[in-house]
Amino acid sequence: MAAAGLASAACAEAWGSSPTPSTLSDATLQPLSAVDGPAVMSAVTTDTPVVAPANPPAAQSTSDGRPAAVAAEHAGQRPRTWAMAMPGIVTTFVPAGKQMALTFDACGGPGNDEMNEVLMNFLISQRIPATLFLNQRWIDADPGRAGTLADNPLFEIGNHGTRHCPLSVNGRSAYGIAGTASAQQAVDEVWSNHERLIRLTGRAPRFFRTGTAHYDDIAVRIVHELGETPVGFSINADAGATFSSPQIQREMAAVVPGSISIAHMHRPRSATAPGMIAAVTRLRSAGYQFVHLP
Ligand SMILES: [Zn+2]
Repeated sequence: MAAAGLASAACAEAWGSSPTPSTLSDATLQPLSAVDGPAVMSAVTTDTPVVAPANPPAAQSTSDGRPAAVAAEHAGQRPRTWAMAMPGIVTTFVPAGKQMALTFDACGGPGNDEMNEVLMNFLISQRIPATLFLNQRWIDADPGRAGTLADNPLFEIGNHGTRHCPLSVNGRSAYGIAGTASAQQAVDEVWSNHERLIRLTGRAPRFFRTGTAHYDDIAVRIVHELGETPVGFSINADAGATFSSPQIQREMAAVVPGSISIAHMHRPRSATAPGMIAAVTRLRSAGYQFVHLP
C-alpha cells in the first residue's frame, strides 16, 4: 500500500556526477547554482545551523502520524523553500565536549548497490560509531548485509528513502533529478522504507535523509509528522564519493565540535575509504569522540 501511487521509475543516484557544495554550515551554496539554477540559491534562508526544531511541526498536526492523514493534511499545499538546510533540518548538534557525528549514506540503485567494505571494516575494527542512512533499494539488494550492519551497536540505522528522491510536494528537482511530486508521494518515499527498516531492525528509524539531501518546507513537516527527524550535514566530506582522498581530508579538517559529516558507503572504488580513514584517524588523535546523533 505504501508504494501505491509511486511512479515506476526510481530517482537516480544524484550525487556522484554533480558538483556539490564543499560545506553547508551557512549559506555558501554557490557551487549549486551551476547545477540546479538560482532557485536553490534563493531557497537558503538560514545561516544558523539548526540543532532541533524549536517548535516541532508535528505539534500542530492533527494527523497523529498516520501516513494517509499526513498526506491528506498537506495535499495541495504550496512550498515556499527548497534547500538542504532550513529550520527543522538538523545540520549540527550540541556536543558534550569534543564530539562529532559521522554519517554515511547507502544510496542504492543501479551501480550503487555495493558496500565499501574497507571503510566499514575500519569503523568496526576501530570501534567508531556512525549513523548509516540506508535506502530501501540498497537494503533489498542484500538484506543480509544490511541486517548485519543493523545488528552492530556501533551503527544507528537511518532512513535514506525508498526511491532516493529529493523530497518535494510539487516535483522540484535537485541535480536534475525530479523529486516526489505530491504530498502523497513524499509520504510514500519516507514511509515505505520506514516500514522496511522496522522489518530489518525491529524498531522505527529516528532519522531521515532524502536522496540528494534536498527538501521543501512542506516535506520537512511531513517527515516530522511521520515521526522522523530530517538530517542534513555541516561537512560534505566526499561529494557523493567523487572527491579525492586529499579533498576529503581538507573538508574533514573543518570539523568542529557538533559537526555532522556526510560521506557515502556504497562506492568501494572511490577515494572515500582512504580519505575518511585518514581524516578520522587524525581527528581521533586530536581528541575527537565520534558519537551517534542525539
Ligand atoms: Zn543518497
